Amino acid sequence: MSQHTITVAGVAVDARHWIGGERVASTRTFPDVSPIDGSTIGEISRGTATEAAAAVAAAKAAFPAWAATSRAERARILHAIAGGVEKRIEELAIVETTDNGALLRSHRRGVMPRVAHNFRFFADWLLQLDHEDFDTRGHTNHVSWDPAGPCVLITPWNAPLMLATWKVAPALAAGNTVVLKPAEWSPLTASLLADIAAEAGLPAGVLNVVQGYGSEIGDALTSHPDVRRISFTGSVPTAKRIAESAAAHLTPLSLELGGKSPLLVFADGDLDLAVDLAVEQYDNAGQVCLAGTRLLVEEPVAEEFTRRFVERASALKQGDPRDEATDIGPNIHPRQLEKIDGFVQRALAAGARAVIGGHRKEDQYYAPTLLTDVAPDAEIVQEEVFGPVLTLQTFTDEEEAVRLANGTRFGLAATVVTGDPERAERVTARLVAGTVWVNCFFVRDLQAPFGGSRLSGVGREGGTWSFDFYCDVKNTVTAPKGWKDHG
Ligand code: NAD
Repeated sequence: MSQHTITVAGVAVDARHWIGGERVASTRTFPDVSPIDGSTIGEISRGTATEAAAAVAAAKAAFPAWAATSRAERARILHAIAGGVEKRIEELAIVETTDNGALLRSHRRGVMPRVAHNFRFFADWLLQLDHEDFDTRGHTNHVSWDPAGPCVLITPWNAPLMLATWKVAPALAAGNTVVLKPAEWSPLTASLLADIAAEAGLPAGVLNVVQGYGSEIGDALTSHPDVRRISFTGSVPTAKRIAESAAAHLTPLSLELGGKSPLLVFADGDLDLAVDLAVEQYDNAGQVCLAGTRLLVEEPVAEEFTRRFVERASALKQGDPRDEATDIGPNIHPRQLEKIDGFVQRALAAGARAVIGGHRKEDQYYAPTLLTDVAPDAEIVQEEVFGPVLTLQTFTDEEEAVRLANGTRFGLAATVVTGDPERAERVTARLVAGTVWVNCFFVRDLQAPFGGSRLSGVGREGGTWSFDFYCDVKNTVTAPKGWKDHG
């Protein structure tokens, strides 16, 4: 075990970068702090432009051979990575929980199996990726997906390995090489992924992981002339900086950003279902981009909805995320708590009423909060809080419901609860959102397009949409035998 190894709940994690198939240390480090108790888990290599350049160079060097590797062999290695993840689910789960404070039971049963599935799905999708040839006056059009080159993938802390592998898997499947930059608040499982990929036989340089603060290493990655794709999940301000930086070489971007998604409850809907779905929005301590944080409830059922919501939400158990019985864990960082509480206190000062919560609790916990008496243009209704904070507004008809639902700068997702299929069709057709759920929430299939409208993002990933992004899509037109072009 090297001096750079951190032991997290008995699991050895290398704190250095992974570049060109080797561990590389920076001269400086940054502390990785656990949200569970504020303790320092360890010191992580603090990347700079030097490591960024080295990682891109390694990805560039590894690209020709990986791009030329057959689809079947690439798929085989991706399945082997999935197998490695499946073998280490317990380890990955406890390391991720220690690092970002999300529930251990979710990591074990939901998140980590899905990480493995990300690799299996894109490996299988690659093997059936095809477009039927078509004819133009006797000429054959053949569409192919050519690997694009080195990809820079930058990810946030709220679902670190799930979101990272949602990009890494299709990028690698497509025949690209990767430089992954995980968030500085949750750097650990990306390092374990590098180990797992190497053990699975992924050639050196095909996957590189660089650690560090986005402000220090980000620009060197996103402005690099050898980078062919940038896929980013994170906040709107960072996305704007990345877009500026990528503009130097017109590097194609995929941006998965924030949201302020509505959850519409019509009086004709199943109220118990609506309450269940609403309470679910506190999942991951509210640190979910897709969360339906704006509850829009039809006037006649608003009082009863609120009564049942308070009853259900008050029964949620908040505490140590490693405890099986816990429903809501801590928020990621003292700075995030400050931000959450700032939003709530400004809303209360502006006249909002806290039906539940509205304050911090001990350590890094925030009381699940529901705010009413909020104006449609209030900051708390318009801005993403990224904490366990929901607002409730009422509406009197479908027209007003749609106007309120579409009334922010975001458009990531929307949920509609109604018992009337015709209403569902009318309303969903008018909602501005990348994903709309009717009488359900968070049902996600990797073959579906995923992304946001307006400030929630640029582009779509998932299934063929991922390959469209990570590849240079080429159309080859072949003339029939003996054909002569007479102009
Ligand atoms: P963030 O933008 O602060 O950071 C995200 C990543 O960008 C981190 O790895 C960070 O180091 C890096 N970064 C920071 N500055 C950079 C720069 N100048 N150049 C390059 N990289 C840089 O976001 P966050 O606080 O980590 O994540 C929360 C945000 O992510 C929320 O807005 C949330 O809605 C969003 N999110 C979106 C989705 C989605 O799929 N749409 C999913 C999860 C989270």
